[in-house]
Amino acid sequence: MTGVWQCQGVTTTSAVGAVRQGSLRELNLAVVLGRIAAAARPPSRADLATDTGLTRATVSAVVDDLIGGRLVCESAPAPRSGAGRPARGLVLADHGPAGLGLEINVDYLAACVVDLAGTVRHHVVHRADLRPVSPADAVARLAALAADAHAAADREGLVLAGATLAVPGLVDAHGLVRLAPNLGWRDVDVPGLLADRLRIDPVPGVPPLVVDNEANLAALGELHAGPPGAPSFLHISGEVGIGAGIVLNGSLFRGARGWSGEIGHVPVRPDGRPCRCGGRGCLERYAGQEAILTAAGLTGTDLPADTATTTLAGLAADGDQAALTALHDAGTALGVAVSAVVNLLDLDTVVLGGGYATLAPWLCPAILTELSRRVLTARWAEVTVRPAALGPRSAAVGGAGSVVRAVIARPVGWLARSG
Ligand SMILES: [Zn+2]
Repeated sequence: MTGVWQCQGVTTTSAVGAVRQGSLRELNLAVVLGRIAAAARPPSRADLATDTGLTRATVSAVVDDLIGGRLVCESAPAPRSGAGRPARGLVLADHGPAGLGLEINVDYLAACVVDLAGTVRHHVVHRADLRPVSPADAVARLAALAADAHAAADREGLVLAGATLAVPGLVDAHGLVRLAPNLGWRDVDVPGLLADRLRIDPVPGVPPLVVDNEANLAALGELHAGPPGAPSFLHISGEVGIGAGIVLNGSLFRGARGWSGEIGHVPVRPDGRPCRCGGRGCLERYAGQEAILTAAGLTGTDLPADTATTTLAGLAADGDQAALTALHDAGTALGVAVSAVVNLLDLDTVVLGGGYATLAPWLCPAILTELSRRVLTARWAEVTVRPAALGPRSAAVGGAGSVVRAVIARPVGWLARSG
């Protein structure tokens, strides 16, 4: 790889040469920033030169650009044995671009700010039953949370480079929410309602607002929170509705039209309870938040999401038999649906996110029992079931993370804006 990204040798003064030089600078910036972002320890300029094959002079020029653009800063010198000055390490800046993550769900709104290093710098969850609220009113409430997040970012010296909104429904390529059954939304133009209220200055290469399915964003958050590699897993978000994000070999599998992962409407009892989608016996009717709360003797609509799951977890921890039975039955229904997915896709890990992250200790045993019964390969290829690393409410954090990853992938866009 020696010298592959270097500008040296591009001596032509033609228009093509100028484009090439621009492209090489762009590539060098992306390569060096990507190495700093992925490094286990803050690398020095010399480390980066060795790692990338670029000359030290090129690395220094690139690093100076990144520092000037508030993408990178120098950490305290690392202790070094032997002669010479200790080298300074380079880390992602904590006072530059950041991502805004937003979520509209059935019974809460959320907003968060995530910096370049993936640290959550601001996170607010506002509990409210949004089913009786019009889409325009729900978006207006969200815009108020976004404005607070914007102010929080300003106070921290961060600049919002883009926003991602998570919704519990089917979203098309233009951000139109085609269907969110538990909210009662059909064909809602969320970008049209929200984009102008976010006050985000455009950054070349970073969409100012992306709307995506909440389960997909939570799965992406989990993917990037984990160790490097190409894992294959199923991330299930358990709220009032149930959605899944499917990650195959390190990439989110969206399906032919981007609408994969509707595990909540996979039937676990074909002639079972009627569902809001028009079908019967859907997983959501047995393992959705309301179904679990009802089975446990609690009234779902009186308990906002956080309160509901923590109340249920508290009862289960105290040995409340109704809560334990409700969670066991929900885990069994989940295990039936998840077994079908594992048999089909050969996944080795199931991640429990959303409200399920809190309830995982009581859901996991029944899920594992069903997996061991129903997955053909279970005898010699164990499936791991674990709570989400990002915990509940991971969709907004995952969405904000996708903004900063877009900045890191193409730093020249941010530098053009800040310069
Ligand atoms: Zn259904």
